[in-house]
Amino acid sequence: MDSAWDKLKGHQEQRDLFSRSLANRRLSHAYVLAGQDGIGKSRFGRLLAQSLFCRNSPPESLDACGECRACRSFDAGSWPDYIEVGLPPGKNEIPIAAIAGSAEKRGREGLCFELSMTPQASERRIAIINDAHRMNAEGANALLKTLEEPPAQALILLISDSPDSLLPTIRSRCQVVRFFPLSTEDTIQILLNEEMTDSEQEARTVAEVCNGSITSAQQLLNPELRELRNTLERGLIKLEKLNPIETSREITNAIEKMSSGTDEQRQNTQWMLRFLGDLLNQQLRKLTQGDLADPLHKRFGVRSGADLVADLLDRVLTASFQIDANSPVKLVLETLFDDLARMMRIGPTSAR
Ligand SMILES: [Zn+2]
Repeated sequence: MDSAWDKLKGHQEQRDLFSRSLANRRLSHAYVLAGQDGIGKSRFGRLLAQSLFCRNSPPESLDACGECRACRSFDAGSWPDYIEVGLPPGKNEIPIAAIAGSAEKRGREGLCFELSMTPQASERRIAIINDAHRMNAEGANALLKTLEEPPAQALILLISDSPDSLLPTIRSRCQVVRFFPLSTEDTIQILLNEEMTDSEQEARTVAEVCNGSITSAQQLLNPELRELRNTLERGLIKLEKLNPIETSREITNAIEKMSSGTDEQRQNTQWMLRFLGDLLNQQLRKLTQGDLADPLHKRFGVRSGADLVADLLDRVLTASFQIDANSPVKLVLETLFDDLARMMRIGPTSAR
């Protein structure tokens, strides 16, 4: 039998864990699938749900044929016993209506209500909440009530890259299953299989810097973002001669040009800051590997040079917090590059 799980790369340990729970008939009512963004947690959750619905796979086995009526209907998004909610596009909060129903129908629709209903086509009702840490207090409290007295036939999967941000009372009622970044080889396979690139060379280059996240890989493969990275590298090529006004103007322009709104501008700015962090980390590696030609090595030696890069990285992190807190992109970048140039001139904090 072909398996729908063939689509999944990695996460064997987690598959084994659920296989064992199913075989022993000890599946819990609620799990948090926790781990970095873009590594396949939602996909894993959907496969788990599909396996429980599949008509060709025994209830105690973690498998799905991909062909029976249940599997096909699940793939088409029309299986009646399955509910999936998450962030609406461009929003950073899961609407309360999705969890507990609209104001007029509070408690009579939404995820918690649907979970309480008798399954229509199978033995279970299964719900996935993507980015579960993005529920607001009201949504979280509604879910908590369901978790306190879970309907017998319900299975709830909370997907989160920030499980510590979940209400502790929610977390304590779920079994937390940790997921880890994809290996470079698995990442390459996914990028090629899903035709995100047709060049094996490019797939490898991206896989080596995306930290095992397909979301990051996808962003890195975006031509505009690639161009932004090049612009940044050009601006920083002589870190010690960084021209803050010119660099921040060039980067700000590039970000404005590639973004259609302020939300996208913020997101692309965060990417740029991540690239900047990568570049500084590369610099740090060269320095500690004793690259004598490295300008920081020449000026400060290894120890102070490394301290300086740590200071610069700290400053980049601050900029990232400012963007998260809705500070204007242009202003954040101007002060950032200005500070970086000044820090380069006067050396590490520890030397002052
Ligand atoms: Zn099936």
